[in-house]
Amino acid sequence: MAYDEGYAGSLLEAGLVGKDQLKKAANEAGRSGDDLRDVLVRFGYCDAEALEEALGSYLGVDRIKLTPDMIDRAAVGLIPEDVAVEECVMPIRETEEGLQIAISGPLDDDTREKISFTAGRPLLPVLCLRSEVKAAIRRFYAGAAMVEAELADEGDTIEYLDSYRAGSSAEVEVVEDQIIDLVDSLIAGAIKERASDIHIEPTLESAVVRYRVDGILRHVKELPGDMHEPVVSRLKILASLDIAERRHPLDGVIFLRYRGRDVDLRVATAPTIYGEGMVLRILDQTRAGVQLTELGFSKSDMEIIMRGLAEPFGFILSTGPTGSGKTTSMYAMLNKISNEERKIVTIEDPVEYRLAGINQLPVRHEIDLGFAPLLRSVLRQDPNIILVGEIRDEETAHVAVQAALTGHLLLSTLHTNDAPEVLLRLMEIGIEYFYVREVVKVIIAQRLMRKLCTGCKEPYEPTPHELAELGMPEGTTGDFFKPGACEACQGTGYMDRTGVFEVMPMTEEIKDLMAPEVPLRKVREMAYSQGVRKMWLNAVDKVLAGETSVAEIMRAVPR
Ligand SMILES: [Zn+2]
Repeated sequence: MAYDEGYAGSLLEAGLVGKDQLKKAANEAGRSGDDLRDVLVRFGYCDAEALEEALGSYLGVDRIKLTPDMIDRAAVGLIPEDVAVEECVMPIRETEEGLQIAISGPLDDDTREKISFTAGRPLLPVLCLRSEVKAAIRRFYAGAAMVEAELADEGDTIEYLDSYRAGSSAEVEVVEDQIIDLVDSLIAGAIKERASDIHIEPTLESAVVRYRVDGILRHVKELPGDMHEPVVSRLKILASLDIAERRHPLDGVIFLRYRGRDVDLRVATAPTIYGEGMVLRILDQTRAGVQLTELGFSKSDMEIIMRGLAEPFGFILSTGPTGSGKTTSMYAMLNKISNEERKIVTIEDPVEYRLAGINQLPVRHEIDLGFAPLLRSVLRQDPNIILVGEIRDEETAHVAVQAALTGHLLLSTLHTNDAPEVLLRLMEIGIEYFYVREVVKVIIAQRLMRKLCTGCKEPYEPTPHELAELGMPEGTTGDFFKPGACEACQGTGYMDRTGVFEVMPMTEEIKDLMAPEVPLRKVREMAYSQGVRKMWLNAVDKVLAGETSVAEIMRAVPR
C-alpha cells in the first residue's frame, strides 16, 4: 500500500512506534517501495499482528481471515483481474447493501470509487492479510495479470536448459503464449515459495494446482477445464515426453535455470479418470552442497556421527518414512567426507541431486539393474565409500554386508520408526545376527518438522494440558512460542524445516544383545539407558528453545 499519512499518525498516537522509528521506517518504505507495515516488522519496531489491528481500527473496518470457502464465484466476475491484482483486493460476495470486498490496506477515494463503479455496486470492505488476498486472487482468477505482475521483475524469467527442444518442435504451435506464461509462473511461484513439489490434479470440471511447502500441501490455483490439457501438454513438451501418450504414466525431467540457480523438475504423469494428472518434484541443485551442520544435529549426536564416518568399514544407516530428510542427511555426510583421496560411488533410485566429484549410478529396473547387481559391479571399481539408496531386500542386504566386510564404508537408508528397530529390521530382511553385530556402526532415525516463522511467532504460556502432552511437569519454563501469520510465511506461521534426530551408536552392550528373537523392547531399553536421546525429547528441546511449536511436534514426531 502507498504510504498513508493518517495511518502512520494513528500508529504514533496509539504508541505502537516512536517518532524516530516511524521516520526511519517511512524513509525505508519510500526508498524500497515496500509496505510501511513490512518495514516496521522487519526493523523489529512493531509486531505484525498489532499493526493489522491498528489498521483495522484506523480504517473503521472489520478484520477477517479470508478463506477460499468464503468466496462466491459469482462475485469474482464483478472486479476484473487486473484491478484486483493492482489494488490487491478480492471480491467476496454480494449482499443487499453492496459488494463485500477484501482489502489489504487503505484505498484512496479515487480507487475506491473506480472499483465501485466497475462493480456497479457500493463496496463493503473488510481488512485481510495481503497474503490471503493474493492467494485468493491467484486461486480464483485465470492468471494473466498475476503472471504479468509476478514475472515483471527484470531478469525474473525461467531459462530452460538442454532438454528444451520445444522451440524447434512443431508441437509447440498447439501451445499459446498465455499457456507458456502460465506454466512459467506456476514454476517460478513454486520455486519462490520454496515448494518441493507441484501437483496438478484434474477434477470433473477443472484442475487443481497445489504446492507442497515444508511438507504441507497448499492449494494455489484452479485451472479452468479448458486450460488443464494445454498446461499439461506444455509441461510434457518441456520434459521431452510424448504428448499423445495419455493412458500410461510417464516420467521425464525438465532442466531449467531460475534466478541463477539450476533446478531440475522431475515430472511424473498419472492418468486419472478425469484426465492426466501430474506431479513435478523440484530439485534445486544448489542444495546438493548441503552441510551436516545445517541439519539440526545436537553437538553430541554430531560427535557420534563423525566417529562413525571415520570408521574404515561398516554401515551408517539412516531411517525414517518417505520425506523425512534421510537422503539429505546422506548427501550431507558424503559432502563431509568427500575428498580426493577416497573414491565415493552412489547407487540411487533415481539420482536426484548431482554431486561434484562423486560417481553416481541410477538404478534401472527396466533392464534389471537394481541395487544388488549395481552394488556388485561397483565393488569391482575399487571404491572406499558407497551410498546405496535403500536396503529393502535380502539380496541387496547380503551384497551390502559383503561390501562392508571387505573394507567399505556403506551408507544407506531403511524405513523404520526409530533407531533401535533398524537392527531387527536388518535381521528380518535376512542378515544373520552375527553380521548385524559386526557391520552396523551408527543408526540415525529422523523426521522433519517445520520451524516457526521468526517474522510472526508469538510468545505464550502453554497450558498444563500442553505441558502434559509434551511429558513436561507443570511449571516448566521455556521460550514457548506459537505460530502467528504474516506475508513472509504466507500466513502459515511456519517457515523452513529442521531435522529432529535419534542417533544411536553400536556399543559393545548392544552388540551382545544381537541374537535371533531378541525383543525390540530390550534393544530400546539398552540404547536409551546408554544415553541415546529419544527423538521425541530432542523435539521437545526445540519447542523449549522456541524453534518450533507444541502442535508441530505432535504432528511430525512419534512419541
Ligand atoms: Zn510469518
